[in-house]
Amino acid sequence: MSDADRFMTEAIALARENVRRGGRPFGAVLVMDGEVVAHGVNGVVETHDPTSHAELIAVRAAAIKRHSPILKGATMYASGHPCPMCLAAMRLAGITDIYYAYSNEDGAPFGLTSAPLYADLQKPLAEQQMNFAYRPVRPKGEEDIYDLWRKMQEG
Ligand SMILES: [Zn+2]
Repeated sequence: MSDADRFMTEAIALARENVRRGGRPFGAVLVMDGEVVAHGVNGVVETHDPTSHAELIAVRAAAIKRHSPILKGATMYASGHPCPMCLAAMRLAGITDIYYAYSNEDGAPFGLTSAPLYADLQKPLAEQQMNFAYRPVRPKGEEDIYDLWRKMQEG
């Protein structure tokens, strides 16, 4: 078995154990330099946290472990097709290699697909299922937060 298949098998095993504990069938393994640096399972049912996705948990754990928000060179092995939130998190972390074992098509008959969310996010913002509006409030007498940030950066 190739290393890639071994890591994916581990992600699937995590997903299977999670289902047996009452969770959703998603597990993820994050690999750097040929070693597992972090893993995660979906915790939405257990924690009531809608962001408790396997890939996001693995990214958080790896970033904390490595004391860096950048995980360049890491490879994600996810049991299921990552949702847009996890995909964005991986992009923010600089992860460029992502593999998944179950596609959105595989998951659709089970209600385990993020395809509708991907489809909605591809529409112009004004046509999406949320109100998303610019409200440029700048409290009078208060230092602008971006100006403050720049000053702090400059020391
Ligand atoms: Zn996700």
